[in-house]
Amino acid sequence: MFAFMASKVRLFVDHPLGPAQSVPLTRDQAHYLFGVMRLGAGTVVSLINGADGEWDAEVFEAGKKGGVLLCQSQTKPLQMPPDVWLLFAPIRKERTAFIVEKATELGAARIMPIQTEYTNNADRLRVDKLRAHALEATEQCGGSYVPPVDDLAKLSKVLDGWDPTRRIMFCDEAMLGQASVLDTGLAGPWAIVIGPEGGFSDKERTRLRGMDCAHPVSLGPRILRADTAAVAALTLWQNAMGDWG
Ligand code: SAM
Repeated sequence: MFAFMASKVRLFVDHPLGPAQSVPLTRDQAHYLFGVMRLGAGTVVSLINGADGEWDAEVFEAGKKGGVLLCQSQTKPLQMPPDVWLLFAPIRKERTAFIVEKATELGAARIMPIQTEYTNNADRLRVDKLRAHALEATEQCGGSYVPPVDDLAKLSKVLDGWDPTRRIMFCDEAMLGQASVLDTGLAGPWAIVIGPEGGFSDKERTRLRGMDCAHPVSLGPRILRADTAAVAALTLWQNAMGDWG
C-alpha cells in the first residue's frame, strides 16, 4: 500500500515572521489557501517573507475574504544565495520572465535589467510582474530569499558607478568558440552580464573589456539565445564558485 504525503503549501507573505506571530491574509491569499487549496482551520502551512527564514504556521481563522495564520516554529533559517548578480538586457516578455524565474531558482542575489545600445524591448518592461515572478519562483523552489529585481537602468550608467571589487563575468558573443575558463580562485562578489538579441555594441564591448574587474568569457561554440545564455552562465558560475558544492 502506498502512503502519500501531501507536501505543505508554501506561501510568501509581506509580514514579519516570528514566534507566535499572527499573520493576516490578503483576500487573494485567503482565496488561494481556502478556496483553491481547500485548507481549513488547524492546517499547517509554510511561510516565507524573504527575510526571516521559513516558518510553520497554523490556520487560525479561515474566511472567504481573509484569514489569520499563527506562526509556530522556524523550520529553516534564511538561506542567502552567493553574492552574484545577473545583469541582462530585456528580451520578449515571456523570455524575460523565464530569465527572472530561472535566475531565482539558480541562486542569483540580485537581478538587474539593463538597457544596452541594441536593447529592443525596454519600453514594454513590467518590473512589477518580474518581481512577482521572482517571488513565485522562490515559493516553488524551496528558497527563502527573494532576489530583488531592479528597475531598468542604462548599462553605461550602471558601469559609471561600478564597484571595482565586484568582478564581472562578461558573456561576450565575440568570444564564440574560444577557450575561456572561469578562474575559480577569484572569490568575492561577482556579476554576470548578458547582452540582448543584437549583442553588445563595439563601444560597450570596448568599455567592458577595459575594466580590470571584467572577465570576458565564451559560452561555447554556438550562439545562445539570451535566455539560454543567462541560465548557462549562472550554472557555470555556481558550479565554479557558488553554493552548489
Ligand atoms: N546577435 C549576437 C550575434 O549574432 O553575435 C548574439 C547575441 S546572443 C543572442 C545574446 C547574448 O547572449 C550575448 O550578448 C551574450 O551575452 C550571450 N551569448 C550567447 N551566446 C554566447 C556565447 N557563445 N559566448 C558568450 N556569450 C554568449
